[in-house]
Amino acid sequence: MNIKDYKNVWVFIETARDEVKRVGLELLNQGRILADANDEKLIAVVIGRHLDAAAQSVIAHGADEVIVVEGEEYADYNTDGYTNVMVKLVEKYKPSVILIGATNNGRDLGPRVSCRLATGLTADCTGLEINEETRDVAWTRPAFGGNLMATILCSATRPQIGTVRPGVFKKAQPDFARTANIIREEIKTPAEEIRTKLVGFIKAEGDVVVNLEEAEIIVSGGRGLGKPENFACIRELAEVLEATVGASRAAVDAGWISPLHQVGQTGKTVGPKIYIACGISGAIQHLAGMSSSDIIVAINKDPDAPILGVADYGIVGDLFEVVPVLIEEIKKI
Ligand code: FAD
Repeated sequence: MNIKDYKNVWVFIETARDEVKRVGLELLNQGRILADANDEKLIAVVIGRHLDAAAQSVIAHGADEVIVVEGEEYADYNTDGYTNVMVKLVEKYKPSVILIGATNNGRDLGPRVSCRLATGLTADCTGLEINEETRDVAWTRPAFGGNLMATILCSATRPQIGTVRPGVFKKAQPDFARTANIIREEIKTPAEEIRTKLVGFIKAEGDVVVNLEEAEIIVSGGRGLGKPENFACIRELAEVLEATVGASRAAVDAGWISPLHQVGQTGKTVGPKIYIACGISGAIQHLAGMSSSDIIVAINKDPDAPILGVADYGIVGDLFEVVPVLIEEIKKI
């Protein structure tokens, strides 16, 4: 392998029923910085069935080129089909870097592709930059239960592949006037090579779909709520703000709310425009999942709670007094 033959930064754009998932757009924004630092192109790879709208969206979000692979067999994500496409594309185009969202599908695809190509993979990253000296990507990820942040370089092989948590980076403002080259590749995967079959989608039992990673506003509750019934005030505040309900692990572990709502190192990494933490102390593992939010509001009765140290707006007070007032005031707007 001659490392010098490998160029450009790729972003795998995950789609669900041909709609682009936000993490791909977030990675395009950070991929732009990596590509510019090494004077390379930023290329989006989209696999699915009907991808014209998806291709336009990734161009609007900054891709210099889009590689599109369409086929009935790619209508829904499947390991064999998507791996086959990615490996063939890499063998043809030789990218230097591939960024993949650390979603369920991305966490499945990344290791498969890297294994087939006999290169490295850094999983579940929370930071990406270019190492000044080697010009490799410096991938940062939590290690040892979040007690230290490891920076990993993949210097000996190409491509450098990593999965990156949704919500870590912001997506750019789209510019739908942008144009870019769309390369359409014909890659088929024979049906007998696809060993899995999607038989249907089942909604999470007893709970509405919780889409924390895509949420613009999140209202989260923690142990300070005291008991499960008190989540009602968090839900009400979320409702008036059209927000999604989040929670600390303490609230989840106590059985007050489903784990689908957990924010943090072992929950979801989120990056909403507004994050409102109610009765949450701000343990390092919680902050790891929400500190990239644009605006953080914390309501806590302890003036020394660490969450107030990262909050843009801190309200020191009893959440059972503050939250109802907020709800009433917001209703008036
Ligand atoms: P507490 O730390 O008990 O804080 C409760 C807060 O509520 C206090 O600050 C208190 O002052 C305030 N309060 C009490 N009553 C009121 C009131 N009436 N009005 C206003 N404020 C009030 N945690 C996560 O959240 N997400 C994770 O993903 C996660 N992963 C972890 C992974 C590992 C390996 C480990 C070891 C821990 C992890 N944790 C995680 C747990 C984390 O360390 C904390 O224990 C947890 O975040 C604490 O939750 P909390 O802030 O709700 O509770």
